[in-house]
Amino acid sequence: MLARVDYATLDRPGSPIRIRLSSTVARVRHAGSSTSARDVEVAYARDKKVYAVRARGVVLACWNAMIPYLCPELPDAQKEALKYGVKVPLVYTSVSLRNWRSFHALGINGASAPGMYHTGARLEMPTVIGGYNPTPASPDDPILVRMTRTPCKPGLPARDQQRAGHVELLTTTFETFERKIRDQLARVLKDGGFDPARDIDAITVNRWPHGYAYEYNPLWDPDWPEGQSPCEIGRKPFGRIAIGNSDAAAAAYTDQAIDQAYRAVKELVDAKAS
Ligand SMILES: Cc1cc2nc3c(=O)[nH]c(=O)nc-3n(C[C@H](O)[C@H](O)[C@H](O)COP(=O)(O)OP(=O)(O)OC[C@H]3O[C@@H](n4cnc5c(N)ncnc54)[C@H](O)[C@@H]3O)c2cc1C
Repeated sequence: MLARVDYATLDRPGSPIRIRLSSTVARVRHAGSSTSARDVEVAYARDKKVYAVRARGVVLACWNAMIPYLCPELPDAQKEALKYGVKVPLVYTSVSLRNWRSFHALGINGASAPGMYHTGARLEMPTVIGGYNPTPASPDDPILVRMTRTPCKPGLPARDQQRAGHVELLTTTFETFERKIRDQLARVLKDGGFDPARDIDAITVNRWPHGYAYEYNPLWDPDWPEGQSPCEIGRKPFGRIAIGNSDAAAAAYTDQAIDQAYRAVKELVDAKAS
């Protein structure tokens, strides 16, 4: 937690692996036909300039829905499949309190509130690593409260709920969030003596309109035969281009992103060997 990272070391000339930050890929295409080309051209934007590199193989490990725009030469059925999943929107709000006497007085460390703007508020578990230890010694010490919200529109199919959540997150002002947070904490904690004007020190709202990968839901999604689900069609290798990310597994968590990365790299290695 306290270490300083020198990001320049990620992109050193002569290093067998170079990671270039702040570089947005805008186009990926085979240098020729996808069945016979020896290289793939990648065009990326950095510092308001566009650069091109060539590679023997490329893994696209980004959001599936963008891949058809980056790589228009993909077959139409694959492009349709890549667009199927709709990312799940998510909000993690951190509220810095000057003290947590109100929680202590109420004898609680959090409160679920399914009908309120944030569905829960909980004292943040301190992250203790090496010399970093923010554990408060007493209820008089400052602390962070974690609040969560998953914007959606009950009643619609899951993917449409997600889309409604994207719009909500992109159009809600911070002032609206702040008012809802102050109101909610005041109502939940008032019997413990909480005063939002006095006790709230700072608020950070982290919003991910496109957060978790979409996971298939038996209520709305078909029961596809093996190999026919959109993520399986979407992640098929195309010439020298492979696809790996959590969307490729239709699974939200990091373990699946790692498994898909492994599979995608292996596809390129196997193709080279054959
Ligand atoms: C708020 C939140 C909390 C989470 N908590 C957990 C958790 O506790 N445990 C867990 O297992 N998972 C968690 N996840 C899920 C986890 O973050 C994902 O499963 C994982 O990051 C997916 O990895 P990925 O490599 O597929 O995609 P990402 O991590 O999203 O990486 C994709 C990368 O591609 C880059 N990129 C996109 N487009 C381009 C482009 N055109 N050119 C260049 N680069 C591009 C992006 O900048 C990004 O760095 C959480 C996700 C969110 C949003």
